[in-house]
Amino acid sequence: MTNARSWWGWGTDAAALSTAEVDELVARVATLLPRHDFTDHAPPPPDELPVPAPRIRVPDSLAAMVSSAVTDRLSHSRGKAFRDVVRNLQGDTSYVVDLVARPATEQDVVDVLDFCAGQGIAVIPYGGGSSVVGGVEPRLAGPSISLDLGRLDQVVEVDPVSRAARIQAGVLGPALERQLRPTGLTLRHFPQSFEFSTLGGWLATRAGGHFATLYTHIDDLTESLRVVTPAGVSESRRLPASGAGPAPDRLFLGSEGALGVITEAWMRLQARPRYGETVSVVFDEYAAAVAATRSISQAGLHPANCRLLDPAEAFIQAGEDAAGGLLILAFESADHPMDAWLDRALEITADHGGHAGARRARDADTEQRDASATWRSSFLRMPYQRDALARRSMIVETFETACTWDRFDALHAGVMTAAQDAIDRICGGGVVTCRFTHVYADGPAPYYSVYGPGRWGSTVAQWDEIKAAVSDAIAAHGGTTTHHHAVGRDHRPWYDAERPDPFAAALRAAKGALDPAGVLNPGVLVD
Ligand SMILES: Cc1cc2nc3c(=O)[nH]c(=O)nc-3n(C[C@H](O)[C@H](O)[C@H](O)COP(=O)(O)OP(=O)(O)OC[C@H]3O[C@@H](n4cnc5c(N)ncnc54)[C@H](O)[C@@H]3O)c2cc1C
Repeated sequence: MTNARSWWGWGTDAAALSTAEVDELVARVATLLPRHDFTDHAPPPPDELPVPAPRIRVPDSLAAMVSSAVTDRLSHSRGKAFRDVVRNLQGDTSYVVDLVARPATEQDVVDVLDFCAGQGIAVIPYGGGSSVVGGVEPRLAGPSISLDLGRLDQVVEVDPVSRAARIQAGVLGPALERQLRPTGLTLRHFPQSFEFSTLGGWLATRAGGHFATLYTHIDDLTESLRVVTPAGVSESRRLPASGAGPAPDRLFLGSEGALGVITEAWMRLQARPRYGETVSVVFDEYAAAVAATRSISQAGLHPANCRLLDPAEAFIQAGEDAAGGLLILAFESADHPMDAWLDRALEITADHGGHAGARRARDADTEQRDASATWRSSFLRMPYQRDALARRSMIVETFETACTWDRFDALHAGVMTAAQDAIDRICGGGVVTCRFTHVYADGPAPYYSVYGPGRWGSTVAQWDEIKAAVSDAIAAHGGTTTHHHAVGRDHRPWYDAERPDPFAAALRAAKGALDPAGVLNPGVLVD
């Protein structure tokens, strides 16, 4: 076991589940699915896979930053969605980048873009490679280079007065927070993929962090961006806010590598939280739990966590028997105790028939320990468990959306029915669960998990069929194709239908102006 990144699955080899953990997981799932075939399908040795030779010869000036190693190329050719992991396990080498380039400076990025634009070679910006929507996959006939920003990993400058920092885009979450720690400040953006995703990837996909309200997307924390495009470098001015026309940063946030390469950003920071209070509330009826969550989201309380788990999710993730669901509430602040906020939230849950458990207050030191311990146990192991089950022909995947509160009941019923029907038809049974990852005054972001017994060799096609059914149901009920997982290549049909036509025309024109040769991540967002 090494600490190297896994080429086929999540995280590192060293952190993957131990044999005992796998046995325990499989035994637990087998009690629910006694007839399922849990044969383990180990990843193939990458060097034995039929990977075509690179079709690109780079000039000497770029040679030192380029790798043609097979494992490097394979690991950069897919993200980390269930369908990526399974295709890797099956030794599917349909689309493989020709080379991986690792620029050490912004000038290196400019040089790679110049070379690729001149030669008509596709460039796919790569951060941590945790895309779940086909964002880093070269689904192209022509040659491609994966542009790995990982060497641009420094916090370059901190402005403690305005509480902001200039940070290079290729820094992974833990290294970013480690560099900020001496300042007492934090970016406080913790997506579940935090450990293996980068600032640039978060910005390019408009990632959603762990906190349920207020600053949910990375957009909210962005002060200015520096982006290298084939047409030149675009840098916006550092400002707390501006009404000067359409905002330049809005063009590049969520641009998924199709309009330029984000090389650095000034990000807004916050003081590290010192006060925190958390509590779980059990409900007898799901409708009452939803109503309570809506009231809290509209009361201006801004909880750090306001995660409503439906009964199945509460049972699987928290071991709680909650007939109407479980609401996990947390408040935190760097400045003042949060008791009054939690008091008011619990008045609201009580009005809706909620039964609150014991409140837990945390001081500065234990807050850090508790938060990281909870985060590690509840989030970090899940992708490794998914991989262990994917090797054993299980379909384990998630999808997410957001809608306004007035549409939620119909959307949720429609999506749950579509998902359950699809799993029953395609897998002969399975489970769908729901939790809210984020809540806004005007609507929630429901996040669904699917667990189904698949057939080895068919699980990707089976998942694709389930995903199409649920995406159609989301669209039919007025939800968005993604609240925070981005569009990539996989969400294109639903994204194209969702966006207004004049906007699509403007986006195509922007692509034409910034990337006239059409080499930047072809196929995502626009054709
Ligand atoms: C287990 C798991 C958990 C996840 N949890 C969350 C979550 O909680 N919240 C969430 O929002 N997402 C989540 N995701 C999805 C994924 O982590 C996010 O989309 C993340 O923002 C991608 O960051 P990355 O650095 O890995 O980017 P990559 O996957 O490398 O790239 C993603 C896209 O951004 C582009 N890109 C990357 N860097 C740059 C750059 N510097 N300039 C221009 N374009 C660039 C790429 O070309 C690609 O289109 C999860 C994924 C997994 C597998």
